[in-house]
Amino acid sequence: MATVVFQNVEHEHIRKTFLNVLNQYDSLDGYKLILKQRKVKGTTMQAQPVINLTKLFGGPDRYKIKLARYVRDSESIKVSELPEAVLKGWFAHELGHVVDYAPHSTLGMIRYGIKYLVSDRFRKMVEHRADEIAIEAGFHKEILATKRFVFDHDLIDDGYKNQMRKYYMSIEEVEMCASDKSPLQPVAHEV
Ligand SMILES: [Zn+2]
Repeated sequence: MATVVFQNVEHEHIRKTFLNVLNQYDSLDGYKLILKQRKVKGTTMQAQPVINLTKLFGGPDRYKIKLARYVRDSESIKVSELPEAVLKGWFAHELGHVVDYAPHSTLGMIRYGIKYLVSDRFRKMVEHRADEIAIEAGFHKEILATKRFVFDHDLIDDGYKNQMRKYYMSIEEVEMCASDKSPLQPVAHEV
């Protein structure tokens, strides 16, 4: 399993849930992950490589997952009080991003980050891929639980829901992806 450093994560149950999900991601063995709870603007969780500019052609070997205390600026829905399956689905998605980042060099990750910001198409592809990787790792039910939670929650604003609709896999797509017995189509790496 990857080495994990928790920073500011006050709830034992969050730490346990994270480790539990990580346990399913064998491909991350040997990496170092930092789970840091802090204020995150505009989102709930965010996975990023820790960039070391002196190793441009080598790959980053550590990744940071930022975790907000509240679900996307809601000021009322605490991450620590999310239902277990919802939190698992969220972590599974973020770790899906880390798996997707892992083959890239530092330079490749810089280009990746820029493309994510400027290209809606690339962002959509990346967000879908994170869900696909999570589903392959066995978190189909949890990914669905997270999406249902966001879409059904009255206190989560429409901006967030619209963003989910625009960039993320829909509930129907997740169901199709999980019921499809054929292996997932490999997605061409554009970076
Ligand atoms: Zn994502």
